[in-house]
Amino acid sequence: MALVFLPALARMAVCGGTHGNELSGVYVVQEMERQWKEKGECAWPIPVTTVLSNPRAVKECRRYIEKDMNRCFNRATLSSPITDSSPYEVRRAHELNNLLGPKGSTDAIDLICDLHNTTANMGLTLIHYTTSDWVTLHICKYLQTKLTKVPVRVLVLDVPISDAYSLESVSKHGFSIEVGPQPHGVVRADIYTIMKEAVDLTIDWIHKFSSGTVRPNQIWFIIVCRKCVLYQTMLFSGMVFEGGDVEAFRFIKSVDYPRDPETRTLTAAIHPQLQVPVMLLFIIFTQNQHEHVQMIRRWFILESVIFFLSIFITVKY
Ligand SMILES: [Zn+2]
Repeated sequence: MALVFLPALARMAVCGGTHGNELSGVYVVQEMERQWKEKGECAWPIPVTTVLSNPRAVKECRRYIEKDMNRCFNRATLSSPITDSSPYEVRRAHELNNLLGPKGSTDAIDLICDLHNTTANMGLTLIHYTTSDWVTLHICKYLQTKLTKVPVRVLVLDVPISDAYSLESVSKHGFSIEVGPQPHGVVRADIYTIMKEAVDLTIDWIHKFSSGTVRPNQIWFIIVCRKCVLYQTMLFSGMVFEGGDVEAFRFIKSVDYPRDPETRTLTAAIHPQLQVPVMLLFIIFTQNQHEHVQMIRRWFILESVIFFLSIFITVKY
Protein backbone atom coordinates (compact mmCIF):
# COMPACT_ATOMS: atom_id res chain seq x y z
CA MET A 1 0.00 0.00 0.00
CA ALA A 2 1.25 3.45 -0.82
CA LEU A 3 0.07 6.97 -0.32
CA VAL A 4 0.51 9.26 -3.31
CA PHE A 5 -0.02 12.99 -3.57
CA LEU A 6 -1.16 14.44 -6.88
CA PRO A 7 -2.41 17.90 -7.83
CA ALA A 8 -5.90 18.50 -9.17
CA LEU A 9 -6.41 18.42 -12.92
CA ALA A 10 -6.76 21.90 -14.32
CA ARG A 11 -6.88 21.45 -18.09
CA MET A 12 -7.64 18.77 -20.62
CA ALA A 13 -7.60 18.56 -24.41
CA VAL A 14 -9.86 16.58 -26.70
CA CYS A 15 -8.12 15.86 -30.00
CA GLY A 16 -9.61 14.43 -33.18
CA GLY A 17 -8.35 13.93 -36.72
CA THR A 18 -4.87 12.81 -35.73
CA HIS A 19 -5.64 10.30 -38.46
CA GLY A 20 -7.57 12.34 -41.02
CA ASN A 21 -9.89 9.58 -42.23
CA GLU A 22 -11.08 8.48 -38.78
CA LEU A 23 -14.10 10.70 -38.73
CA SER A 24 -15.90 10.12 -35.44
CA GLY A 25 -13.19 12.06 -33.61
CA VAL A 26 -13.29 14.81 -36.22
CA TYR A 27 -17.03 15.20 -35.78
CA VAL A 28 -16.83 15.04 -31.98
CA VAL A 29 -14.30 17.90 -32.01
CA GLN A 30 -16.43 19.92 -34.44
CA GLU A 31 -19.51 19.37 -32.26
CA MET A 32 -17.60 20.49 -29.17
CA GLU A 33 -16.41 23.60 -31.00
CA ARG A 34 -20.04 24.32 -31.86
CA GLN A 35 -20.98 23.88 -28.20
CA TRP A 36 -18.23 26.29 -27.18
CA LYS A 37 -19.42 28.94 -29.66
CA GLU A 38 -22.95 28.55 -28.32
CA LYS A 39 -22.22 28.43 -24.58
CA GLY A 40 -18.70 29.74 -24.17
CA GLU A 41 -16.96 28.73 -20.96
CA CYS A 42 -20.23 27.29 -19.66
CA ALA A 43 -20.08 24.50 -22.23
CA TRP A 44 -18.23 22.20 -19.83
CA PRO A 45 -17.57 22.22 -16.09
CA ILE A 46 -13.79 22.23 -16.64
CA PRO A 47 -11.54 24.05 -19.15
CA VAL A 48 -11.36 21.98 -22.33
CA THR A 49 -9.18 22.66 -25.35
CA THR A 50 -10.38 21.12 -28.61
CA VAL A 51 -7.86 20.36 -31.33
CA LEU A 52 -8.19 19.20 -34.91
CA SER A 53 -4.80 17.51 -34.94
CA ASN A 54 -4.07 17.02 -38.64
CA PRO A 55 -6.26 19.49 -40.56
CA ARG A 56 -4.65 18.85 -43.96
CA ALA A 57 -5.24 15.11 -43.69
CA VAL A 58 -8.82 15.72 -42.51
CA LYS A 59 -9.45 17.98 -45.49
CA GLU A 60 -8.23 15.27 -47.85
CA CYS A 61 -9.83 12.47 -45.77
CA ARG A 62 -6.55 10.59 -45.61
CA ARG A 63 -4.78 8.96 -42.69
CA TYR A 64 -1.86 11.35 -43.16
CA ILE A 65 -0.21 13.51 -45.82
CA GLU A 66 3.49 12.59 -45.55
CA LYS A 67 4.05 10.67 -42.32
CA ASP A 68 1.84 9.01 -39.72
CA MET A 69 1.53 11.83 -37.20
CA ASN A 70 0.69 9.47 -34.37
CA ARG A 71 4.27 8.18 -34.58
CA CYS A 72 5.82 11.66 -34.32
CA PHE A 73 5.55 12.41 -30.60
CA ASN A 74 8.58 10.50 -29.31
CA ARG A 75 11.20 12.69 -27.75
CA ALA A 76 13.71 12.20 -30.55
CA THR A 77 11.31 13.54 -33.19
CA LEU A 78 10.10 16.39 -31.03
CA SER A 79 13.65 17.48 -30.25
CA SER A 80 14.90 17.28 -33.83
CA PRO A 81 15.20 20.58 -35.69
CA ILE A 82 12.60 21.48 -38.30
CA THR A 83 14.07 21.89 -41.79
CA ASP A 84 12.66 22.60 -45.24
CA SER A 85 12.44 18.87 -45.84
CA SER A 86 10.61 18.03 -42.62
CA PRO A 87 7.32 16.20 -43.30
CA TYR A 88 4.13 18.15 -42.69
CA GLU A 89 3.14 15.87 -39.79
CA VAL A 90 6.49 16.41 -38.04
CA ARG A 91 5.96 20.17 -38.28
CA ARG A 92 2.45 19.78 -36.96
CA ALA A 93 3.67 17.55 -34.11
CA HIS A 94 6.07 20.32 -33.07
CA GLU A 95 3.17 22.81 -33.14
CA LEU A 96 0.99 20.56 -30.99
CA ASN A 97 3.85 19.92 -28.58
CA ASN A 98 4.18 23.69 -28.16
CA LEU A 99 0.42 24.04 -27.73
CA LEU A 100 -0.20 21.13 -25.34
CA GLY A 101 3.24 20.36 -23.90
CA PRO A 102 6.12 20.56 -23.91
CA LYS A 103 6.12 16.81 -23.40
CA GLY A 104 7.56 15.80 -20.04
CA SER A 105 7.44 19.32 -18.62
CA THR A 106 5.46 20.75 -15.74
CA ASP A 107 3.76 23.04 -18.26
CA ALA A 108 2.27 20.12 -20.17
CA ILE A 109 -1.51 19.89 -20.19
CA ASP A 110 -2.93 17.53 -17.58
CA LEU A 111 -4.75 15.15 -19.86
CA ILE A 112 -5.12 14.54 -23.59
CA CYS A 113 -7.95 12.39 -24.89
CA ASP A 114 -7.07 11.53 -28.49
CA LEU A 115 -9.89 10.09 -30.60
CA HIS A 116 -9.43 7.30 -33.14
CA ASN A 117 -11.53 4.83 -35.09
CA THR A 118 -10.73 1.30 -36.12
CA THR A 119 -12.32 -0.92 -38.71
CA ALA A 120 -11.98 -3.80 -36.21
CA ASN A 121 -15.13 -4.85 -34.36
CA MET A 122 -13.72 -4.36 -30.86
CA GLY A 123 -15.96 -1.87 -29.11
CA LEU A 124 -14.17 0.87 -27.20
CA THR A 125 -10.53 0.51 -26.21
CA LEU A 126 -8.56 2.90 -24.05
CA ILE A 127 -4.83 2.83 -24.82
CA HIS A 128 -2.15 4.32 -22.63
CA TYR A 129 1.43 3.78 -21.59
CA THR A 130 1.78 2.82 -17.96
CA THR A 131 -0.04 0.93 -15.22
CA SER A 132 1.23 3.43 -12.67
CA ASP A 133 -0.92 6.28 -13.98
CA TRP A 134 -3.68 6.08 -11.40
CA VAL A 135 -5.63 8.98 -12.84
CA THR A 136 -5.93 7.31 -16.22
CA LEU A 137 -6.79 3.95 -14.67
CA HIS A 138 -9.53 5.52 -12.60
CA ILE A 139 -11.01 7.13 -15.71
CA CYS A 140 -10.82 3.76 -17.46
CA LYS A 141 -12.69 2.14 -14.62
CA TYR A 142 -15.28 4.91 -14.66
CA LEU A 143 -15.88 4.44 -18.39
CA GLN A 144 -16.09 0.67 -17.98
CA THR A 145 -18.76 1.18 -15.36
CA LYS A 146 -20.80 3.79 -17.20
CA LEU A 147 -20.57 2.65 -20.82
CA THR A 148 -22.61 -0.52 -21.16
CA LYS A 149 -23.50 -0.62 -24.85
CA VAL A 150 -20.11 -1.94 -25.96
CA PRO A 151 -17.13 -3.70 -24.36
CA VAL A 152 -14.72 -1.20 -22.80
CA ARG A 153 -11.18 -2.56 -22.57
CA VAL A 154 -7.86 -1.14 -21.45
CA LEU A 155 -4.66 -1.73 -23.40
CA VAL A 156 -1.34 -0.77 -21.80
CA LEU A 157 1.67 -0.32 -24.05
CA ASP A 158 4.91 -1.08 -22.23
CA VAL A 159 6.87 1.77 -23.80
CA PRO A 160 9.00 4.28 -21.89
CA ILE A 161 7.38 7.67 -22.02
CA SER A 162 10.37 9.15 -23.89
CA ASP A 163 9.82 6.59 -26.65
CA ALA A 164 6.03 6.89 -26.57
CA TYR A 165 5.12 8.10 -30.02
CA SER A 166 1.45 9.06 -29.91
CA LEU A 167 -0.19 12.39 -29.22
CA GLU A 168 -1.55 11.66 -25.76
CA SER A 169 2.00 11.02 -24.49
CA VAL A 170 2.53 14.80 -24.58
CA SER A 171 0.23 15.24 -21.59
CA LYS A 172 0.88 14.35 -17.96
CA HIS A 173 -1.86 11.73 -18.09
CA GLY A 174 -4.00 10.77 -21.00
CA PHE A 175 -5.07 8.05 -23.34
CA SER A 176 -6.30 7.42 -26.83
CA ILE A 177 -9.75 6.07 -27.50
CA GLU A 178 -10.26 3.57 -30.32
CA VAL A 179 -13.84 2.82 -31.27
CA GLY A 180 -14.96 0.41 -33.95
CA PRO A 181 -16.04 -1.01 -36.25
CA GLN A 182 -16.22 2.02 -38.49
CA PRO A 183 -14.93 2.16 -42.06
CA HIS A 184 -12.41 4.91 -42.65
CA GLY A 185 -13.83 8.00 -44.34
CA VAL A 186 -17.37 7.59 -43.00
CA VAL A 187 -19.21 8.22 -39.73
CA ARG A 188 -21.45 5.64 -38.12
CA ALA A 189 -24.00 7.23 -35.80
CA ASP A 190 -23.67 4.50 -33.16
CA ILE A 191 -19.87 4.72 -33.11
CA TYR A 192 -19.94 8.53 -32.98
CA THR A 193 -22.44 8.42 -30.09
CA ILE A 194 -20.29 5.99 -28.08
CA MET A 195 -17.19 8.14 -28.59
CA LYS A 196 -19.00 11.36 -27.62
CA GLU A 197 -20.39 9.67 -24.53
CA ALA A 198 -16.89 8.53 -23.53
CA VAL A 199 -15.57 12.08 -23.89
CA ASP A 200 -18.44 13.53 -21.87
CA LEU A 201 -17.89 10.93 -19.12
CA THR A 202 -14.17 11.74 -19.02
CA ILE A 203 -14.97 15.42 -18.53
CA ASP A 204 -17.50 14.43 -15.87
CA TRP A 205 -14.93 12.36 -13.97
CA ILE A 206 -12.29 15.08 -14.06
CA HIS A 207 -14.83 17.59 -12.80
CA LYS A 208 -15.72 15.32 -9.87
CA PHE A 209 -12.07 14.59 -9.20
CA SER A 210 -11.07 18.23 -9.04
CA SER A 211 -14.14 19.82 -7.49
CA GLY A 212 -13.40 19.36 -3.77
CA THR A 213 -13.66 22.44 -1.60
CA VAL A 214 -11.65 21.71 1.54
CA ARG A 215 -8.25 21.15 -0.04
CA PRO A 216 -8.75 21.93 -3.71
CA ASN A 217 -5.14 21.37 -4.68
CA GLN A 218 -4.62 18.04 -3.00
CA ILE A 219 -5.74 14.58 -3.98
CA TRP A 220 -4.75 11.52 -2.02
CA PHE A 221 -4.60 8.01 -3.36
CA ILE A 222 -4.52 4.84 -1.33
CA ILE A 223 -3.17 2.25 -3.68
CA VAL A 224 -3.01 -1.48 -3.32
CA CYS A 225 -1.25 -3.23 -6.17
CA ARG A 226 -1.66 -6.99 -5.92
CA LYS A 227 0.42 -8.57 -8.67
CA CYS A 228 -1.10 -7.20 -11.81
CA VAL A 229 -4.55 -6.57 -10.44
CA LEU A 230 -4.99 -2.97 -9.54
CA TYR A 231 -7.08 -1.80 -6.68
CA GLN A 232 -7.27 1.84 -5.85
CA THR A 233 -9.29 4.00 -3.56
CA MET A 234 -8.90 7.74 -3.72
CA LEU A 235 -9.73 10.28 -1.10
CA PHE A 236 -10.18 13.85 -2.12
CA SER A 237 -11.24 16.50 0.28
CA GLY A 238 -13.43 14.06 2.11
CA MET A 239 -14.84 12.60 -1.12
CA VAL A 240 -14.06 8.94 -1.73
CA PHE A 241 -13.42 7.58 -5.19
CA GLU A 242 -14.09 3.89 -4.77
CA GLY A 243 -11.41 1.58 -6.07
CA GLY A 244 -11.72 -1.76 -7.75
CA ASP A 245 -10.11 -4.16 -10.15
CA VAL A 246 -9.07 -2.80 -13.51
CA GLU A 247 -8.63 -5.46 -16.13
CA ALA A 248 -5.86 -4.32 -18.46
CA PHE A 249 -4.14 -5.97 -21.38
CA ARG A 250 -0.62 -5.68 -22.64
CA PHE A 251 0.93 -6.25 -26.04
CA ILE A 252 2.56 -9.64 -26.55
CA LYS A 253 3.45 -9.98 -30.20
CA SER A 254 2.39 -9.39 -33.76
CA VAL A 255 1.43 -12.32 -35.97
CA ASP A 256 1.93 -11.82 -39.66
CA TYR A 257 -0.41 -13.29 -42.23
CA PRO A 258 0.70 -16.46 -44.02
CA ARG A 259 2.49 -15.36 -47.18
CA ASP A 260 3.89 -16.82 -50.34
CA PRO A 261 7.61 -17.20 -49.60
CA GLU A 262 8.64 -15.76 -52.93
CA THR A 263 6.13 -13.08 -53.75
CA ARG A 264 5.19 -12.24 -50.13
CA THR A 265 1.55 -11.94 -51.17
CA LEU A 266 -1.05 -13.08 -48.67
CA THR A 267 -2.12 -16.71 -48.83
CA ALA A 268 -4.81 -16.59 -46.17
CA ALA A 269 -7.54 -14.47 -44.66
CA ILE A 270 -8.79 -14.07 -41.12
CA HIS A 271 -11.01 -17.03 -40.32
CA PRO A 272 -14.69 -16.09 -40.10
CA GLN A 273 -15.24 -18.13 -36.96
CA LEU A 274 -12.85 -16.76 -34.40
CA GLN A 275 -13.52 -18.80 -31.29
CA VAL A 276 -12.74 -18.62 -27.61
CA PRO A 277 -10.71 -20.19 -25.99
CA VAL A 278 -9.17 -21.66 -29.16
CA MET A 279 -9.47 -19.45 -32.15
CA LEU A 280 -9.12 -20.32 -35.76
CA LEU A 281 -6.75 -17.60 -36.74
CA PHE A 282 -6.41 -17.94 -40.48
CA ILE A 283 -8.08 -19.79 -43.29
CA ILE A 284 -5.63 -20.75 -46.01
CA PHE A 285 -6.88 -19.76 -49.46
CA THR A 286 -5.68 -22.78 -51.43
CA GLN A 287 -5.82 -25.58 -48.90
CA ASN A 288 -8.85 -24.80 -46.76
CA GLN A 289 -6.62 -25.37 -43.75
CA HIS A 290 -6.90 -23.64 -40.43
CA GLU A 291 -4.20 -22.27 -38.22
CA HIS A 292 -4.96 -22.48 -34.53
CA VAL A 293 -3.47 -20.51 -31.73
CA GLN A 294 -4.29 -20.81 -28.08
CA MET A 295 -6.65 -18.00 -27.34
CA ILE A 296 -5.36 -15.08 -25.49
CA ARG A 297 -7.00 -11.77 -26.26
CA ARG A 298 -6.84 -10.79 -29.89
CA TRP A 299 -6.94 -7.19 -30.89
CA PHE A 300 -7.40 -5.11 -34.00
CA ILE A 301 -8.43 -8.13 -36.06
CA LEU A 302 -9.29 -6.84 -39.53
CA GLU A 303 -8.07 -3.33 -38.84
CA SER A 304 -7.57 -2.25 -42.42
CA VAL A 305 -4.62 0.09 -41.95
CA ILE A 306 -2.24 -1.53 -39.51
CA PHE A 307 -3.42 -5.05 -39.15
CA PHE A 308 -3.74 -5.96 -42.76
CA LEU A 309 -0.09 -6.77 -42.28
CA SER A 310 -0.06 -8.04 -38.75
CA ILE A 311 -2.21 -8.81 -35.75
CA PHE A 312 -1.68 -7.65 -32.24
CA ILE A 313 -2.34 -10.28 -29.62
CA THR A 314 -2.75 -9.23 -26.08
CA VAL A 315 -3.15 -11.18 -22.91
CA LYS A 316 -4.99 -10.46 -19.71
CA TYR A 317 -2.72 -9.90 -16.76
ZN1 LIG B 1 -6.08 6.32 -35.64
